Amino acid sequence: MTDLFDFHKQKRCFAVVGHPVAHSKSPQIHEDFARQCGVSLSYEAIALDPGAFEQGVRNIRAGGIAGANVTVPFKQAAWRLADKLTDRAQLAQAVNTLSFSAGDVIHGDNTDGVGLMRDIQKNLGFSCAGARVLVVGAGGAARGIFQPLLDSSPGELVIANRTLSRARELLAAFASPIGSTVCNLEDLSSTAFDLVINATAASLMGEVPDLPNGIFANGALAYDLAYADQPTPFMRWAMDAGAVRAVDGLGMLVEQAAESFWIWHQHRPQTAPVISALRSGSR
Ligand code: NAP
Repeated sequence: MTDLFDFHKQKRCFAVVGHPVAHSKSPQIHEDFARQCGVSLSYEAIALDPGAFEQGVRNIRAGGIAGANVTVPFKQAAWRLADKLTDRAQLAQAVNTLSFSAGDVIHGDNTDGVGLMRDIQKNLGFSCAGARVLVVGAGGAARGIFQPLLDSSPGELVIANRTLSRARELLAAFASPIGSTVCNLEDLSSTAFDLVINATAASLMGEVPDLPNGIFANGALAYDLAYADQPTPFMRWAMDAGAVRAVDGLGMLVEQAAESFWIWHQHRPQTAPVISALRSGSR
């Protein structure tokens, strides 16, 4: 018989699924967390066929995977697949953390929002309370961060998207909260923001959203959800356009991973050393 002590020592298997996914830093991050917390696990990156996500998940589950992080382009498919959703995943209509329990139930959660807020508020020391906040983009990532941003009591929260109808749909899904508005990118020319978050996929294509100059207030922070070994195109543009600080989404990646780690293992790892190791290239 397996007692509780032995259960915690057993190696459980986890994965990140996406397409493509080979570049993912999630295996390194979870292995670092596991070493810190004395948890025994394996964690691999698995590319799934974009046309067969559900079957792919069933296959990895049958192969013994206990939980999976989900990345581009499968977060909404994971939301549809999960049998039980947390409130934050249901609101976001996107899932980045799947947990496979005994029996057939698949649990879905979304840790992107909490990951972003921990990076911005705790790691970077930026307070959103009363701040004028602009989110550029209205895809899955923007949906995941919207409610936590609202909960941080910004003075103003604007969603601007290239396709306006998508921004409108996002706002409607959150019951059009007071203090929040949507607009086109070109309608931003007369407003300045304290925090500008690039939640578009433009950086992945080496592009910058077509934003007007003058959107950064004095002392503004520019935050790109995308991350790279070099400053992203949005970070470079933002510094030229008046931001005092421009940051990529590596800290968010580590923080959302820490929340997934908590869901799976009930341990809260320290994130600062893992972020530092990734930034210095020593991992
Ligand atoms: P998505 O669902 O495909 O949404 C893409 C969004 O980007 C849409 O709003 C789209 O506008 C916009 N867009 C794409 N190219 C653009 C361009 N050239 N100019 C202006 N807007 C453009 O993608 P997602 O899942 O939300 O991911 C967005 C980004 O967040 C990605 O870079 C992803 O890697 C990053 N992310 C990072 C983390 C992290 O932990 N750091 C977590 C989640 C996501 P339209 O609606 O007009 O097409």
